[in-house]
Amino acid sequence: MSNRNQKPPETMPEETFAPSRRKFLTGGLAAAGLVACAGKAGINGLNGPEGATGATGAEGATGIEGITGVTGATGATGANCTNPPNGLNTLPTTWDYTADVVVIGSGAAGMVAALAAQSKGASVIVVEANYDVGGHAITSGGFVDLGGGTADQIAEGINDSPDLIFADLCFPASYVPANTPGFFPGLKWGQYGGPYQDRAFCRTFADNNVAAYNFLIKNGCTFSTPLTNSHWNGTSGTKRTRTAEWKGTTSNPAGADSPCGNPGVGYIRPLEATARSKGIQFLLNYKMTTIYRDAVLSGTVRGVSASYTNGRIVPGSSTPLQPYCATAGSLVPNVGNITTTQPIVNIKANKGVFVSCGGASSNLELRKKFDMRMCDVYQVGGEPYSFQTGDGILNAMKCGAALYATGNETAGEVQVSGGFQITKPGYIGSQYGYGSIDWTPTSPVFGFARASGLGGINYQNLIQVNMAGQRFVDETATGYTWVDACMQPNSASVPPDWSAGPVWAIFDSAAVTRQNWNLANTDPEFFYSGSTIAELVAQINTHQYQITPMTAAALSATISRYNSFVGTTDTDFGKPSPQYAINAPPYYAAFSCPTIHDWLTGINIDSGAHVLDLDGAIIPGLYAAGEDVGGMLMHGLAKCAVFGMIGGYNAGEGV
Ligand SMILES: Cc1cc2nc3c(=O)[nH]c(=O)nc-3n(C[C@H](O)[C@H](O)[C@H](O)COP(=O)(O)OP(=O)(O)OC[C@H]3O[C@@H](n4cnc5c(N)ncnc54)[C@H](O)[C@@H]3O)c2cc1C
Repeated sequence: MSNRNQKPPETMPEETFAPSRRKFLTGGLAAAGLVACAGKAGINGLNGPEGATGATGAEGATGIEGITGVTGATGATGANCTNPPNGLNTLPTTWDYTADVVVIGSGAAGMVAALAAQSKGASVIVVEANYDVGGHAITSGGFVDLGGGTADQIAEGINDSPDLIFADLCFPASYVPANTPGFFPGLKWGQYGGPYQDRAFCRTFADNNVAAYNFLIKNGCTFSTPLTNSHWNGTSGTKRTRTAEWKGTTSNPAGADSPCGNPGVGYIRPLEATARSKGIQFLLNYKMTTIYRDAVLSGTVRGVSASYTNGRIVPGSSTPLQPYCATAGSLVPNVGNITTTQPIVNIKANKGVFVSCGGASSNLELRKKFDMRMCDVYQVGGEPYSFQTGDGILNAMKCGAALYATGNETAGEVQVSGGFQITKPGYIGSQYGYGSIDWTPTSPVFGFARASGLGGINYQNLIQVNMAGQRFVDETATGYTWVDACMQPNSASVPPDWSAGPVWAIFDSAAVTRQNWNLANTDPEFFYSGSTIAELVAQINTHQYQITPMTAAALSATISRYNSFVGTTDTDFGKPSPQYAINAPPYYAAFSCPTIHDWLTGINIDSGAHVLDLDGAIIPGLYAAGEDVGGMLMHGLAKCAVFGMIGGYNAGEGV
């Protein structure tokens, strides 16, 4: 039985990491079949880390280009697999590739896990569904919130400690003795903190901040200084935020290296360059579909299957997108790519499978299980570059994994910050309106995004109406005050899920002038115009999510009533001093729905990133981190780096 709360926190300074010595359970079939099931299809040119012993394929599976350090030892052998039935997935009779550790997903957690496993001498294959690495992390703001006494904090004279991080995450300010230096009275919880944090996770996180920071630096990341408390101040206000740099700066345009020009490229590309140069291999354009365990709810995890996606081709192009490393002048070495187009590959993991698919934000059915309001209307920040498929959570569950902290996707509402999980869009009139992503034509995925939308929104210039054409909120509201109102059913909601439907920002030509908006930045499928309200409503009713038609009479009545509030008081929703009437045609309707951002619940892991089953026992050979796991309300890259590192070390050592 494993229970994270019975486990003392592990502190893992870089290079002096003391791996968990927790014993694996050995179920009835735990030891069965692995040797006998070793694949007859061979491994072609896999190499160990830093030129350690590699393996050659007995029957020559698809090759891997550009690998160095291959010494060509024996390939996998043994065709006499007995295929022990496990009820869900029968172990494959052949394995196309083998590595010590197979990492699923190359985002914030997976990239760190791969490097950590490799540092323990493990050979590593990273399976990535996208055409390139990075996941949401490469689209992120690149703010990395690690503290506790990092070298850059010390250099700037910033006092911090693991205890202070822990307190910032888990303790309301009222727990802190009066007059404690550094604490600001008055805040109920520190940002990202709250009553729903798993305290044991937070303690492990706090204790391993410095190690994770050192790990990132050692593996090539550089960060801008001075530190700020702009991204995570916590109750104490301690400066722990630095921004990842790429090409010596935090400001890079979108291009082959950086899908949206955000600083997250500086977290991912240096780690990728280090990973490839150290012999870690990447299977791009393959989507993990199955995790194999010996038997139902028992035994060891042995490997995965992955399906070829056929690559990603943007509309108007005929060729699949290529990864940055394959472009001319790339700063990432073009080595370590497993080049195959085999429809399905089976990959054997000698020591472990590491799940880091980023949670379930892109999986409509799964995300509704955690928050039933999350119907198809709501788009996801980070899409359409990458998709957090839920495959990690689902396939871990099929191996017996339990879920944990399932309320946290919505419990984030308790955060002082107003929550990161579902946000007000920063851009309207486009499909992907997440606030900090400006999709520009230089992005390799602009053909999928199609438009950046209209930004810099002054909510005095518009009203927001629901599917029925009715106002429902003070448009200037923020956080969950606004989000919750958007997601409420309304008079146009219909079965099966009684969705609220789309939120439309309604404005006129005078508003466009005041905002200086360029309407060419809108998406014709998410932005409409009409010289009359009736024309506009006819356009709105063509929209894919407008399940119930709006009537022109309803929208006209809404606009008239709002106009009557201008210069006086909004007696319906309390918008402060409405300033502008909507009466100068043409009229416009811009898609302005809440956007899903973080995913904060998922698989149950212990503080060593081992996946736990329904009884709280470790599933041998299965590890997870990042947004695939539940328990920490903290947003973002820092927790991915800490638990990616811890889990990677453990997977690399097979403990
Ligand atoms: C716009 C934006 C800005 C952000 N800014 C910040 C910030 O400044 N600071 C911060 O701390 N956090 C930030 N975040 C959050 C941070 O980026 C995420 O928390 C982090 O990237 C999650 O890491 P992950 O490894 O769990 O998932 P991801 O980084 O999303 O990686 C998951 C990977 O798994 C792959 N995958 C999914 N399914 C499969 C499958 N079946 N087979 C193979 N591969 C699969 C995906 O393609 C993807 O590459 C931001 C997020 C967004 C969207």
